[in-house]
Amino acid sequence: MIQCNDIILAYSNDAEIRQRATSGGIGSTLVNRLFTQGRIRSAISFEYDSEQLKYMPRIVASAEEYAVSGSIYHEINLFAYIREHIEEIKSPFLCFALPCQVNPIKTLLDKEGIEAYIVELTCSSQQTFEATEYLLTRVGVLKSDVSSIRYRGEGWPGGVCITLNDGGTIRIPNNNSVWMSIFHSHLFIMPRCFFCRADRETASDIKLADPWGIDSPALEKLGRTFCHVKSERMASILNGMADEGLISYECRSEKEFLQSQHGTVVRKNYNLRHLWFAKMIKSVLNNKLYRKSVLTSSFLFDAHCFLYTYGCRCLYKIDQILGRK
Ligand SMILES: Cc1cc2nc3c(=O)[nH]c(=O)nc-3n(C[C@H](O)[C@H](O)[C@H](O)COP(=O)(O)OP(=O)(O)OC[C@H]3O[C@@H](n4cnc5c(N)ncnc54)[C@H](O)[C@@H]3O)c2cc1C
Ligand code: SF4
Repeated sequence: MIQCNDIILAYSNDAEIRQRATSGGIGSTLVNRLFTQGRIRSAISFEYDSEQLKYMPRIVASAEEYAVSGSIYHEINLFAYIREHIEEIKSPFLCFALPCQVNPIKTLLDKEGIEAYIVELTCSSQQTFEATEYLLTRVGVLKSDVSSIRYRGEGWPGGVCITLNDGGTIRIPNNNSVWMSIFHSHLFIMPRCFFCRADRETASDIKLADPWGIDSPALEKLGRTFCHVKSERMASILNGMADEGLISYECRSEKEFLQSQHGTVVRKNYNLRHLWFAKMIKSVLNNKLYRKSVLTSSFLFDAHCFLYTYGCRCLYKIDQILGRK
C-alpha cells in the first residue's frame, strides 16, 4: 500500500505512454486516470508550435486532448498563461509545474476557487530557448528545416529528437552529448535558477523525478519515475491505479530519492550559502563578450564547460571538507 510521504519508483503499464514520456510516464498516466474517473475536468497540456519551434501551454478538457510531450526544456511562463486563461479552467484542474511555479499557481487557483491537483516536476534548471537554438547550430541544422523537437522520450534516459521537414531525424542522447554539455554549461539557464532552493516547501500532491544514478541505462531501457507522494488523496489515487494494473511500483527510500538529485542539491545549496559566488557566476555567464567568445567556437565552449564544471566541483569539495553539506 502506498501512503502519504512514501517514495516509490513507478512506471506506466501503458507501453506507448511509457515510451513517449520523460521517464516512467507516471505524470501522463495520472492525467488519463483522473480524467477517466471524472476527478478532474481540465488539465494543462503542451502543444508543439512548428512556427516558433516551441511548446505552448493549452488547457484541455479530456484525456484524448492531452499530449504526452515529455519534459520541455525551454522557459514557459506558466503562471502568466494560467492567469490569462483562468476562465477556461474547469475545476477540478490538474497542473504540472516546476518547483518555483507550484506555490504561485496554487495560490492563484485557490483564490479563484479552483480545486487543483499539482504535479511537481523536480528541476535542476530551466533553459532559455537560446539553448535549443545553440543545439541546432551545433548539430548543423537550420531552424527553417525543423519540423518538431522533442526533448525527452524513446525510453530511458532518452534524449532530444529533432524531426526535419524532409522526414529525417537527428537524435542526441541524454548522456555524454553536446545537449548535456549545453544543459550543464549554465550559459542558458534562467536568471532565477542561480538562486533556487533545493529544499523548497511546495503545495503539490506529488513530486516526480528521474532516477538518475539509480536506474542504470545499461539495465533499464524503458524508464521509471521517482515519485514522492505528498498528499493522502494522491496516495489513494496511486493505490487505485496499481490495483487496476495501470501502474507498477516498488517502494524506495528518501535517501535514494535525494541521491538521484545529489549534484543539483549540492550546487543549489552552495549558491545560496555563497550568494556572492552565484551573483558573480551569473554576471560572468551573462556577460555579452564572454558569451560571444565561448559560443562562437566549439573549442571555447568545451573549454568553458570543462573549467566551469571542474572549478565548481573543487569549490563544492572545499565546502564539504569544511563540513558544510
Ligand atoms: C525544466 C525541467 C528540469 C528538470 N530537471 C530535472 C532534474 O534535475 N532531476 C530530475 O530527476 N528530473 C528533472 N526533470 C524531469 C521531471 O522531473 C520529469 O518530468 C519527471 O521525471 C516526470 O516523468 P514522467 O515520465 O512521469 O512524466 P511524463 O509522463 O513525461 O509527464 C510530464 C508532463 O509534464 C509536463 N511538462 C513537461 N515540461 C514541462 C515544463 N517545462 N513546465 C510544466 N510542465 C511541463 C508535460 O505535460 C508532460 O507531459 C526536469 C524536467 C523539466 C521540465
Ligand atoms: S531551478 Fe529554476 S526553473 Fe527550476 S525550480 Fe528552480 S528556479 Fe525554478
